[in-house]
Amino acid sequence: MIVRMRNRPGGRGLREEDDEFVVCRLCRRAFRAISRTHLVCKHGFDADHPILEYLGRFRLRRAESKDVSTRRRNCLCRTFERQGRRWTRRRIIEELRRAGARTARRDLARRQPKLAYAVTRTFGRWRDACAAAGFRYVHGSTKWTPDVILQAIKADLRAGRAVNEKSVRRRSAGLPSAARLEFGPWDAALRAAGIDPARVRKARVWTHAGVIAEIRRRRDDGLDLSFTSTKQRDTGFFAAALRRFGSWSAALAAAGVDPMRVRRHAARTAEGLVSAVRGERRAGRPVNFAAMRRRDPNLVAACLRRFRSWDRTMELAGIEPGRGRLAQAWTPEKVMQSIRNQKATGGPLNIVHVRVRGLVDAATKRYGAWDAALRAAGVDPSEVRLRRAPGWRRLP
Ligand SMILES: [Zn+2]
Repeated sequence: MIVRMRNRPGGRGLREEDDEFVVCRLCRRAFRAISRTHLVCKHGFDADHPILEYLGRFRLRRAESKDVSTRRRNCLCRTFERQGRRWTRRRIIEELRRAGARTARRDLARRQPKLAYAVTRTFGRWRDACAAAGFRYVHGSTKWTPDVILQAIKADLRAGRAVNEKSVRRRSAGLPSAARLEFGPWDAALRAAGIDPARVRKARVWTHAGVIAEIRRRRDDGLDLSFTSTKQRDTGFFAAALRRFGSWSAALAAAGVDPMRVRRHAARTAEGLVSAVRGERRAGRPVNFAAMRRRDPNLVAACLRRFRSWDRTMELAGIEPGRGRLAQAWTPEKVMQSIRNQKATGGPLNIVHVRVRGLVDAATKRYGAWDAALRAAGVDPSEVRLRRAPGWRRLP
């Protein structure tokens, strides 16, 4: 794009956009990168994604110069490298070789989803990745003859892997499905492989007495015995109780627990509710509404039913409303440490992009300015800042 330059040094002629700068299509100013802030403040974009909107409106692919683009990409690559999330062709091939040659993509996706995803992104087709890694391409899954099935089970056992049906299925669905066709129940396949099913079974067997004993144990441990809570805590046990007794109430009754009292227990007293909130606070957990609702929605719902508002609940618990969040203690050491950590992990350090407001506030309060805090932590502020386009000047 050729533009008339107004804000480039020596530039009052026509210039073409180059590697170093891009021109805002709306105001014709040159930038290293057109920022979200610029679009929102100068041109009144109010979308959630002003840059995307800008790109769409002018059918552009980038809103930043090639230089910025390259720098950003390199920076990301370095970060991913450090975090072990960078999948180069070479690394993919190495990991594929480690994963073993006779693999269908479906099996790989189950065992190493990240690797499988990287394969697709980098090579496109599984066939091509196999070729690059020097594997024989395996389509779909293994041909499961009875012999192959038994060999696979024995191999798993030799390698010390669990061979109960659920574990095997989690590793690869093909084997148990094939075994079912060839041998019937999984136990039969195990027996054919010379393995005693009883020894590998992980599933608990719930007898009448077992269910009753478990309910009593839960009651004695002070656990919530309500329908929903029990079901959430241990689906397997709950299902067994229903199978054995027909209903949860019947199971409770059989264990000598009054179902009505369990339900009444769920509708807690005002005192109980307040002390539960206090207990959370004493345990050092945040008790602001959002955090509490995440951690214990039932308690929050009960409080709201009874006290109408969370503020009122907090008041009753003796906590000043709005003070439920745990204050981070930003000691000078912690401020310095956070800045250094951010630097070490390659995270953004310019004041606009540091997400943790508490950190910025504490640093500014203690050192007078963010730059001063950076210097104190041994970081050069000018390296941190996104530099402005050459010839940048504030509009009059
Ligand atoms: Zn503009």
